[in-house]
Amino acid sequence: MYVTLKELLGHAEQEGYTVLAPNVFNLESLIAVVEAAEAEQAPVIIAIGESRLKDERLQKYLPVIARQIARETAVPVGINLDHGKSYHELVLAIQKEFSSVMIDASMCPYEENVTRTREIVKIAHELGISVEAEIGHVGMGEDYTENGVKDGLTEPEVAKRFAEETQVDALAVAVGTAHGVYKGTPKLDFERLEEIHKMVNVPLVLHGGSGTGMENLIKASRLGIRKLNINTELLIEAREQVRRELEENPGIDYSILLKHGKDAVVRTLRGYMQALGSSGKAWSKS
Ligand SMILES: [Zn+2]
Repeated sequence: MYVTLKELLGHAEQEGYTVLAPNVFNLESLIAVVEAAEAEQAPVIIAIGESRLKDERLQKYLPVIARQIARETAVPVGINLDHGKSYHELVLAIQKEFSSVMIDASMCPYEENVTRTREIVKIAHELGISVEAEIGHVGMGEDYTENGVKDGLTEPEVAKRFAEETQVDALAVAVGTAHGVYKGTPKLDFERLEEIHKMVNVPLVLHGGSGTGMENLIKASRLGIRKLNINTELLIEAREQVRRELEENPGIDYSILLKHGKDAVVRTLRGYMQALGSSGKAWSKS
C-alpha cells in the first residue's frame, strides 16, 4: 500500500512509535526492506539517496521497482528522496512520483533554508507529495568529538518558526546524532529533543540512526522521534555476513552471497522495528 509521508508519520504520532527509513540502492536492499516490514507488519519508508538519481540506470529503474513493490504489498510503504540538495533531483523525484522528498538546505543560512524549502513545498504539495526538511545540521560521525557535537544543534525556537514558515510535513532535527560511523560515543541531547517536540507541531525525524545505540533510540522515540533514518549499520551487517559466508565457503555462488547479505539486513531491520514500536502497526486500506 503506497502512502504519503504525512500519512505514515501522522499515524506514528498518534500511536507514539517510530517508522524506520532504511536506504536502498538495488533490488536486494529493496526486497530486504519490504520483507522485514511484512514479517513485522510494520509501516516503513524506503529511502532513496539523491546520488542514486544521478546514476542514469538507477534513476530510470529504482523508483519504478520501489513503487511497484510499495503498491503490491499490504503494509503501508512510503518512498522518500533522502537528502535532496539539488533542485534538479528534487523535481525529478517529484516527477517520478516519490510519495515524499527531503529538501536538505540545512547547510545554508536560515533565510535561504526557508526560501529553498518553501519552493519545494509549493510544488510537492500541489501534487499531494509530502516534504521533509532539516533545521540545524546533522554532521558526520568522523567529526564527532569526546563531548559529542558542538555545532549545528537545533534550537527549539528556530525549529518552531521554521516549521510554521515552511509548512513542511516532517522536520529533521540535530540533537547529537551523526551520519556514518561515530568517532567516540554518541551523546544525545534529550532535553533539547523534548523541548523541540513540545514546541513544534510536525513529526520529527532523526538522521544518523546507525551506531547510536538502541537505548538512546528508544528514548528518542519516546520523546517524539517519528522517523528514523538508517543506512551505515545495514551496510556493515550485510558486509560482515557476506565476509563470514565467504570465509566458510570461498567458492560460494555470488547470487547466494547477495541473499545472505539481504537476510542480514532483514534481521537488523526487524530488530529496530520491534524496539522502536512500528511492529504490528501496519493498518489496512479503509
Ligand atoms: Zn541523513
